Amino acid sequence: MPQSFAPWRPSEVASLNEYQNAGAWHPFTCPNRDLSPHRTGSQDVGMLEASAAGWICPDCGYMQDWAHDWMVDGTWRMLFAENLRMLEERKKRQGLG
Ligand SMILES: [Zn+2]
Repeated sequence: MPQSFAPWRPSEVASLNEYQNAGAWHPFTCPNRDLSPHRTGSQDVGMLEASAAGWICPDCGYMQDWAHDWMVDGTWRMLFAENLRMLEERKKRQGLG
């Protein structure tokens, strides 16, 4: 899958941080979260935070300089909306909606 490397523009940082908290898919988390205490974010323990310089772990300082293209450019919002729409359709078809 194509990747995008930091530095990221402000709009890209915003897209990444929104993705982290959206609950659409699993957020990027720190690989050290089981080795030292990490706080619990809105979606999981040890969530990474996006900055212009890349991802950073607020608890141990771990950094990561890449994300998937579709996370960076905001495409995930469309994919997420489509997923929700399909779930609703399925529920309706099954008479659960
Ligand atoms: Zn960490």
